[in-house]
Amino acid sequence: MTVAVVLFTSDLRLHDHPPLHAALAAADEVVPLFVRDPGVRAAGFDAPNRRAFLADCLADLDASLRHRGGRLVVRTGPVVREVHALAAECGAAQVHMAAGVTGYAQRREERLRRELAGLGVALRVHDAVITAVAPGAVVPTGGDHYAVFTPYLRRWSAEPLREPLPAPRAVRVPDAVRGEPLPSRAGTPGLSPGLPAGGETAGRDRFSRWARAGLDHYGERHDDLAGDATSRLSPHLHFGALSAAELVRRARARGGPGAEAFVRQLCWRDFHHQVLAARPEASVRDYRTRHDRWRTEDEAAEDVAAWREGRTGYPVVDAAMRQLRHEGWVHNRARLLAASFLTKTLYVDWRIGARHFLDLLVDGDVVNNQLNWQWVAGTGTDTRPHRVLNPVLQGRRYDPDGAYVRRWVPELADLDARTVHEPWRLPADRRAGLGYPAPLIDLAEGLDRFRRARGRA
Ligand code: FAD
Repeated sequence: MTVAVVLFTSDLRLHDHPPLHAALAAADEVVPLFVRDPGVRAAGFDAPNRRAFLADCLADLDASLRHRGGRLVVRTGPVVREVHALAAECGAAQVHMAAGVTGYAQRREERLRRELAGLGVALRVHDAVITAVAPGAVVPTGGDHYAVFTPYLRRWSAEPLREPLPAPRAVRVPDAVRGEPLPSRAGTPGLSPGLPAGGETAGRDRFSRWARAGLDHYGERHDDLAGDATSRLSPHLHFGALSAAELVRRARARGGPGAEAFVRQLCWRDFHHQVLAARPEASVRDYRTRHDRWRTEDEAAEDVAAWREGRTGYPVVDAAMRQLRHEGWVHNRARLLAASFLTKTLYVDWRIGARHFLDLLVDGDVVNNQLNWQWVAGTGTDTRPHRVLNPVLQGRRYDPDGAYVRRWVPELADLDARTVHEPWRLPADRRAGLGYPAPLIDLAEGLDRFRRARGRA
């Protein structure tokens, strides 16, 4: 009997899963393994919202495997030690896993390769499992990654994608291999009340429903804050419950401007992955320094607290921050506005904002979070790094009726479209009765400080 191990990481699905497919083709029995690595917690990436969503994903994966005669084996411990021990225990000849891009994932892969080689076990790392196109598959002449999105999009769009692999019909797991009880979302403290349910089944269901009802209108509606017309697939993609390659193929098969706009967003995801794969240090350091002397948490303690709590006095920023806390998810336009306000209007270090987002976002990942924060802060890949978004003008444009603000900022629920983005224009007595803070900062002052800091005054 030949045995192979499949180490699941950010690819918690059975459909379109190249490592599982290859392991099943190569061995009589396969051990689907997930390791709860305390290193993830030590690195500060184990936030309650994601822990709960992960528990849903693992439960769903286990149920789907059981349906096929198998089960998921969960173990806790340093991932390299656990994989090594399991491979030795079941006499595996191969371990299969998806390639990762973060510094953590790259180190994990190197150490696994070394340790398993000592045991005579081959490590097979599969590309394009987490992204649609593998980082490094398209590179500019003379470079190791694309630093600008549009030329990347052009090349990325021409790359052939595999035909999505079907979920396996049967998975045989060696009887003797034992696992731990699955973690459960129940009782996780500090969860956002509006947190969605995770798992491949829920993710596929969401995509199918949204592809029928939302995809065609995505192009014209995705920036409408109140319309909430985006796919909300990001947590499913973050945990790999959905395959990005499969989504691209299914959207392309449908065609039309909505599908094209949606595929473009999935390309942004791949774009950031290939940047971080080539520059893993961009998770903590400026990708392109602008020589900022950002205000620190100590210097800006009150401003940062007001921003985190959604009481900056700028309604659309506060709405974004309250949605983040309530749902663990935020609309992309609202993320942009909240991040621009912190980094450019308040001139606070992007890492402070990125940390807070990572603490709450159910889709929070080092790749997309850190690089989007850098994009907004102007230290990343934005080709207009000094632009500053005005929360009043942006609010009026992307929430013209004010419904998004009214939904998340109940103090402003009775205001009309004219005043909801500028409550300070109300007569003093009415304003006082709202219980809503006055603006934390004058926008012109913030702009002036930022321009001076960037040498553009
Ligand atoms: P849709 O509009 O339906 O887009 C489909 C998919 O495309 C998304 O699910 C996502 O996987 C991908 N996508 C869309 N926009 C982007 C983008 N700008 N960058 C990378 N991928 C994108 N996204 C995360 O997945 N994790 C994060 O931690 C994260 N942090 C962010 C922080 C900031 C400051 C900003 C401005 C953006 C961040 N994003 C992050 C990107 C984006 O906001 C979310 O992916 C998107 O809002 C998710 O909603 P959706 O699934 O409805 O997206």
